[in-house]
Amino acid sequence: MEYIKAKTILQKNKTNDWFGNDYNMNLYRGCCHGCIYCDSRSECYHIDDFETVRAKENAIEILREELRRKRTTGVIGTGSMSDPYNPFEKTERLTERALALIDENRFGITVITKSSLIRRDSDLYKDISRHSPVLCKMTVTTSDDALSRIIEPNVSVSSERFETLSVLSDKGLFTGITLMPVLPFLEDDAENIISIVRLAHEAGVKCIYPAFGMTLRSGNREYFYRNLDRFFPGLSQRYADTFGGSYECASPNARGLMRIFADECDRYGIIYDMKKIIKAYKAGYDDGQLSFF
Ligand code: SF4
Repeated sequence: MEYIKAKTILQKNKTNDWFGNDYNMNLYRGCCHGCIYCDSRSECYHIDDFETVRAKENAIEILREELRRKRTTGVIGTGSMSDPYNPFEKTERLTERALALIDENRFGITVITKSSLIRRDSDLYKDISRHSPVLCKMTVTTSDDALSRIIEPNVSVSSERFETLSVLSDKGLFTGITLMPVLPFLEDDAENIISIVRLAHEAGVKCIYPAFGMTLRSGNREYFYRNLDRFFPGLSQRYADTFGGSYECASPNARGLMRIFADECDRYGIIYDMKKIIKAYKAGYDDGQLSFF
């Protein structure tokens, strides 16, 4: 791990239609979880040596000042470009300290992670939820731990993520799953989708947001293909034949899977429409958006 200095921490979003996030927050740059499909390693983000985690050493001081200066509160999203619960967070505690500031300043939070380390901060999320919206999400792409170990090698396997979601739900937190990507020819079968929705239900998860396919562009495509060649010989050629150089690589089964997924979610009362998800986790907090001091 390395340290870098940050100039800003909170980025204001133009719209809040992605999980209701008014701001984005990244306390780390890079991620060592090693997911073979990770879009964040794409060249367009200009992150050299993506797997080296860089902690923003002045993040907490900057965040404190940025929160103090905001005239309105809102929901802060974290986890889009790097996992806020990478293994260094155990000792760096940037995410934990940021949550304490978010609580103090009465902002809301949505988090996305694949690591069960989030359990450490469950009390902080609970504290924030007493005054502002909180949505704790974990990404799950397969219900098969053996496959998860190959495609997401350095982070909690899927069953540990479901266990974690269960702990967070039991605490009364609003929990969700981002079911994305769903890798064509590896994860895009009905059995996988049905079993993820069932396990989500058992873990008390209230929402799942899916994408039946993946994205590939320069940087992550080469990395992904190298790993396919290593673990699934022949598959990279199938990807190349099917998708060529496309950015969006939808599963050929996407339509059918969406129908099955929706039926399963309806059966368990799990929400999967983005607008409904936002409305549900923000229900009961002011007007559901911003509150003025
Ligand atoms: S956890 Fe997220 S940011 Fe980290 S490697 Fe996996 S997909 Fe990329």
